[in-house]
Amino acid sequence: MPKFDSIYVTVPLASSYNGSYCSFRSTEINLQLPLTAGEHKITTAWVDVGKLHGKQDAVLQARVTLWYKYNACENTIILCSNDLESKDSMLLTIALKGTPARCVQYTYAEGIRQYLENGNWNTYLDLDTGSQASLYETIKRVNAIIIEAANRLDLNVIELSPLPSKKGFNEFKVVYHKGIFFELYDPGKIYSEDHSIVHIDSVFQGCGSFSWNQPLANVSGSTHDPKPIDPQKAGNTRYSSWMDLWRAYWQNDPPACSSYNLFGFKCTGGLVGGHVYKGFQWGRNYAVVPAGADYVYIIPICRGHNADYHVQMMPFTNQHAIALANYLKK
Ligand SMILES: [Zn+2]
Repeated sequence: MPKFDSIYVTVPLASSYNGSYCSFRSTEINLQLPLTAGEHKITTAWVDVGKLHGKQDAVLQARVTLWYKYNACENTIILCSNDLESKDSMLLTIALKGTPARCVQYTYAEGIRQYLENGNWNTYLDLDTGSQASLYETIKRVNAIIIEAANRLDLNVIELSPLPSKKGFNEFKVVYHKGIFFELYDPGKIYSEDHSIVHIDSVFQGCGSFSWNQPLANVSGSTHDPKPIDPQKAGNTRYSSWMDLWRAYWQNDPPACSSYNLFGFKCTGGLVGGHVYKGFQWGRNYAVVPAGADYVYIIPICRGHNADYHVQMMPFTNQHAIALANYLKK
């Protein structure tokens, strides 16, 4: 059970703006995001936030529409990042009060989308580039406030995000066994026909932030044999590319193994992008993964932890991860 029943935030609906064609006044609303299991779509009530110039009674109203999912057994909230272009992306809708005309601004790209019969009124917003920028910054800020609030609670947070465009990331491969995540692709291994080797872009989900005391298990369906060492890639460089992907999101170097010396384990070796599930490591080669675990995480761990399948981990020194889908889409 979550320690909180909801996320409560105060978010902007409009920022103060006075342009050639329209004006907005600074307006805030209170939002409640219930932490009940399943998907949620919230659309807030219309609030008067501004007006069109030169037109009597031409009041502009705004509302926010947002999507999130709460996975109760994993205590995880899943949200869209500002960069994600999706039907679930957060949006700000502007209406001319008393008419069915609407236009929308998403988080992922500046530029108003018009829809419904608009009677040309929102051409004024198009012409008023300052108002567009203001609406764009406002809706991005709403999303950022909610994600910040989720991170402050004792929750795991996943931000659904596009794969970074850096050259090379699209070449990453991941192995699935009968549709369930198996391991990061190892070119030194031979896989059976029950395995699917897929490009990361088909299973990439985004970035994740754990609660610091989230139990993590180093799960592998493999034989746990030591992986063949490529002398060309000796030392710490073997999985460096996965660490590069992690750095591309988190813009820093991890301070140490994420589970540094916890539970009597002595960390050894350099850092690699290890793959973990949320769950407990009980007994030999046996990890208890919550039913319905939707995600596999890449997180910086030492080579010692990465090679040990019997030890419990917690992300004590670093809570940031990359999330991959645990199940292949049919
Ligand atoms: Zn370690």
